[in-house]
Amino acid sequence: MNQPTADDIALVTKAYEFSEVAHKDHQRKSGEPYFVHLVETAKILAELGMGPKTIAAGLLHDSIEDVGVTPQTIEKEFGTEILNLVEGVTKLGTLKYQGMTRHTESLRKLFVAMSQDIRVVIIKLSDRLHNMRTLQHVSPEKQRRIALETLEIYAPVAERLGMGRLKGELEDLAFPYVYPQEYEEVKKLLKQKNTENVEHLEKFSRSLKKEFAKQGITTFEMDYRIKRLYSLFRKLERKGWDIDKIHDLSALRIIVPTVGDCYKILGVIHSNWRPLPGKIKDYIAFKKPNGYQSLHTTIFTGDGGILEIQIRTREMHYEAEFGIASHLSYKHMPEEERTPKETSNLLWIKSLLPSITALKRQLAARNAPPELKLKERSIIPSAPEWVKELAETQLNVSQSEEFLNTLKTDFFSHRIFVFTPQGDVVDLPINSTPIDFAYAIHSDIGDHVAGAKVNGKMTALDTELKNGDIVEILTKTGSAPTTKWLDMAKTSLARRHIQSYLNKHQGA
Ligand code: MN
Repeated sequence: MNQPTADDIALVTKAYEFSEVAHKDHQRKSGEPYFVHLVETAKILAELGMGPKTIAAGLLHDSIEDVGVTPQTIEKEFGTEILNLVEGVTKLGTLKYQGMTRHTESLRKLFVAMSQDIRVVIIKLSDRLHNMRTLQHVSPEKQRRIALETLEIYAPVAERLGMGRLKGELEDLAFPYVYPQEYEEVKKLLKQKNTENVEHLEKFSRSLKKEFAKQGITTFEMDYRIKRLYSLFRKLERKGWDIDKIHDLSALRIIVPTVGDCYKILGVIHSNWRPLPGKIKDYIAFKKPNGYQSLHTTIFTGDGGILEIQIRTREMHYEAEFGIASHLSYKHMPEEERTPKETSNLLWIKSLLPSITALKRQLAARNAPPELKLKERSIIPSAPEWVKELAETQLNVSQSEEFLNTLKTDFFSHRIFVFTPQGDVVDLPINSTPIDFAYAIHSDIGDHVAGAKVNGKMTALDTELKNGDIVEILTKTGSAPTTKWLDMAKTSLARRHIQSYLNKHQGA
C-alpha cells in the first residue's frame, strides 16, 4: 500500500499551514475564506492519487499569484521542485480566454506546461474543477467565459490524458453556462427516458447474473452508468436530436479480474443475446489513443430493448477514470502491489485536511480586503519541438479558428505522452514503439537498443506505447539496428537513423 512517510505528512502539513497564513485575509467571491479553495483543490489531487509534493503544490498554487508570496520564499520553504510546480500553475493561469487568438495562445501554453511537467496540468485541472463547482458565485459574463474555456481547453486536455471522470464532471458543470437552452432540453429528454431505462437495466442484469451462475462465473462486479448530459448533448447533435437512435443512454458495466474473463463474459453474453452488428468494439486488443481499454457490445435484450454493455478489468476501470494520474500515483510501487485503490492516498490526506465546515468556523470571516501584489512573470522558456511544429502549421493556415481546429484534431488525436523513468515527458505519435522512444531520447541510445521495459515490465520492441507509459530502454554496446526495426519504427526520425545505420554497416 502507498503508505505516507513521516516526511510526506510533514510536507503536506507545512504547506497547509503556510497557505492558511498566506491567504488569511483573502476571500472568494462567495465570501468564503479563499483557503477553502486551496484545501478543496488539494482534496481533488488526493482523490486522483497524487503524491505529497503535488498536493503541497496544490495548497500553494495561488500564493504567488494572489497574495504576493515570493518565489524565493516558496523555494526556501518547500524546495525547487514544488516551486516549479507552483510557478507552472501560475503561468497557466495568466492567460484568460478572450476570443480565438488568446484562446489558442493559452491552449499552447497549456501544452507547453504539459510537456515540461505533467503534474502542473493535473493541478491546474483540479483547480479548474473546484472553480467550476463554485462558478455560481461569479458574474454571468465571467461564468460564460470560464465555462467555455473549460469546454474548449480543459475538458479536452483531461480527455487526452485519459482522465474520464474529471473530464465528464468538467463538461457537465460547464454545459448549462455555455448552452443553457440545450442543457434544459437534454435534461428533460434524459429524465423521460431514465426511469424506464433503469427498470430495464435491473431486469436485464438479473437474467445476466442467472446466466453467469449457470456458467460458474462468480467473480464479477456489475453496475451501470447513465450517460453524462454533455456527452449526450454532443451525441444528440450528431443524431439529429432523435433520442431513440441513442443506445448507450445507460450502459451496463461488468468488472472482472482478468483480460481472459472479459472475453469469457462477452462469449456468455453473445451466446445468449443477439448483438447489434457493427457495435462490438474490442478496445482491449485495440486501445483508444488515450489508453482507454474495454470491450463494448450492444445487444437486443429480448423484450424490445437495446442495451450497451462494457466489460473491463478493475485496472482498466481505474485507468478509464483517472488516466495519466493513475500512472503517476502508483508507478513507483512494486508490481505485485499495483492493484490501484482509489482511496489509498485519499485516506491519509483526508485526515490532514479538515472538513470545510470546520475550516469555515476556524477562519471566521475577516473583513480586510486582500492586498494583491501581482508580480511580473517571465514567459515560458524554450518551447519543445512539437510546439514549434504546431507554430509552423499555423503559418499555412490563415485563420485562427481553423488553426485551433487543426491543433485540436491533430494534436489531441495523434500524439501520446510517455515518460522516462526520471519523469521526463516524451511526446510521440500514436502507435509509437520503444524504438521510436529510444531515438527520440538520443540517436546513440536508439542505435544500441537491446530491450525495453514498459511500466517496469520487459516488453517486446514492437509494443505500441500508450499515454502515460513509463519507458526504460536497455542498451548494449553490441546491439545494432536491423531491417526489422524499420517496420517497428513509426517516426520518421527513428526510421532515418535506422536506415542510415543500415546503409553504413551493410557495406552496400
Ligand atoms: Mn486556484
